[in-house]
Amino acid sequence: MEKRQGIPVSPGIAIGPALVLDTEGVLSPHREVPADQIDGEIVRLRRALAESVESARDDRARMTARLGPALGNIRGSQQSMLENDNLRTQIEERIRSQAYSAEYAVSRVIRDLVKAFEDAGQLRGDHGAAAARRQATEFIDIERQLLAALLGHPNNPFDNLTEPVIVLANDLMPSDTADFNARTVRAFATESGGPTSHTAILAGALEIPAVVGIGRFRTDVSGGDTVIVDGEEGVLIINPDAETLFRYEAKRAEQLARPDRYESLRDKPAVTADDTPVKIRLLGNIELAQEAAHCLDRGAEGVGLYRTEFLYLNKTAHPTEEEHYAAYTSVLNTLGPNRPVVIRTLDLGADKFSSMSGTMADEKNPFLGLRSVRLCLNNLDLFKTQLRAILRAAIHGDVRVMFPMISTVDELRRCKSLLNDVKEGLEYAGIPFKRDVPVGTMIEVPSAALLADVLARAVDFVSIGTNDLIQYTLAADRNNEHVADLYNPTDPAVLRLIRMVVRAGQKEQAKRPFEVNVCGEMSGEPLYVPLLVGLGLRHLSATPRKIPEIKRVIRDLKVAEAERLAEHALTLESARQVSSYLRANSAE
Ligand code: PEP
Ligand code: MG
Repeated sequence: MEKRQGIPVSPGIAIGPALVLDTEGVLSPHREVPADQIDGEIVRLRRALAESVESARDDRARMTARLGPALGNIRGSQQSMLENDNLRTQIEERIRSQAYSAEYAVSRVIRDLVKAFEDAGQLRGDHGAAAARRQATEFIDIERQLLAALLGHPNNPFDNLTEPVIVLANDLMPSDTADFNARTVRAFATESGGPTSHTAILAGALEIPAVVGIGRFRTDVSGGDTVIVDGEEGVLIINPDAETLFRYEAKRAEQLARPDRYESLRDKPAVTADDTPVKIRLLGNIELAQEAAHCLDRGAEGVGLYRTEFLYLNKTAHPTEEEHYAAYTSVLNTLGPNRPVVIRTLDLGADKFSSMSGTMADEKNPFLGLRSVRLCLNNLDLFKTQLRAILRAAIHGDVRVMFPMISTVDELRRCKSLLNDVKEGLEYAGIPFKRDVPVGTMIEVPSAALLADVLARAVDFVSIGTNDLIQYTLAADRNNEHVADLYNPTDPAVLRLIRMVVRAGQKEQAKRPFEVNVCGEMSGEPLYVPLLVGLGLRHLSATPRKIPEIKRVIRDLKVAEAERLAEHALTLESARQVSSYLRANSAE
């Protein structure tokens, strides 16, 4: 049994067979075979070895002819590895002594080798480490080839599942999660990633238990091994012993039986406990149109952030205007005419659907590159298609349009001017649309926070995207577990920027209706809610699942106390001090 600690990103407990992606990408049908099948497994193994050797030999000849011997030799060295008697003997020995299936024996032997190479690499200097890593990668490739030969080359790892799996991977791009649903995937766990990575956000949205940022574990697990994911404690357990399995099965049964603690709050208003209650508007963040219903189920008053780039899930081409339009109208129909829906324009690039964006391939530093609104302003057809669909859909409800990643006022002006061009085009073509759609900008880059007063004058509302604001303020990748300690919502630098934006918003509110929202993951965290209210925020947008709990915090809160809390937090010097202070003053 192996137990690993990671970062919990989506609650719940799941127990099931592992499907290890990125490596073999297939699930071994069984781990052990009856004694009378052992000889048959040896025959299957030898056949798979021979087939893989042959294909390596063919590739080598082809590559040598086309690209020269240096490149041909890459497959040549794999051919030698596959022909190595020692490798074959080790695998056969596992089949005979442990009654392992050929697939499982291949996987176990190769993973032990990979682990040995990786461990050796850590003990050597840079040069030795790189060589060991290369060797390890070669073996992973060999494992994939052998498993594919044994299992008849399945294309989609989800195609041949006989029961839902627990997906294990180094990392998952959102497009990898396209096939995830409760019928196929019980949970997932990844070696890298942070709490605001898009995969984590999607896990929350799909309500699948998930743990990320665990560190290296894939060499310790093979497809088909039983694993447990505890999305509350952030734990992954590989091959649990009988007692652990029993304990987690009981914990899981208890969780499933537990009624939704906050269900009774759904129809209650989100108001503070003051004598004159202050209303806090709670909105939902969604990625997929079908989540609009979750917003209503959990008592959200509307959608504060619709991440439209998830329209790229499962797609090999850009969504058409009609596809955009259909998704937006579906959300609006669910929410009805009076609940606001903030549609954020495409935030593609960096970690989100970068391969689909068509321009990101050579980016060396994608988070600082041509992503999000920059990418849209560079691909006007793509951008206009979406804007047209938003304006057309807007006749069905209370739509607001919001631009992500704005870092200068000129960018915002270009977006607004393009929106006007699109309106004129629709007018000219006689296509029905709504003209007076409120326009907002996200504040998620420090330059935008510093210039919030200027940006605010140009829009009807702003929304603070703390996920990116934290990353860019602290220069700490939101997906990188190695800098997770720097990536902290309570860093005083972040709090000062939030306060700056709130003040800019308040100046506008003195002149006209103006909203300041927070839609990063920070607003879904009960610990931070008093701080945000104390800083002056009255609109919070979070994953629907979090809304009842936030509402509960708000209903116990007094604004004057929250203001005192925020005032004091702003005098502190470090994230650690602020976090401890918040914890000490939390009602939990
Ligand atoms: C944010 O950056 O806080 C945000 C809400 O946007 P996303 O998480 O989609 O980047
Ligand atoms: Mg963002």
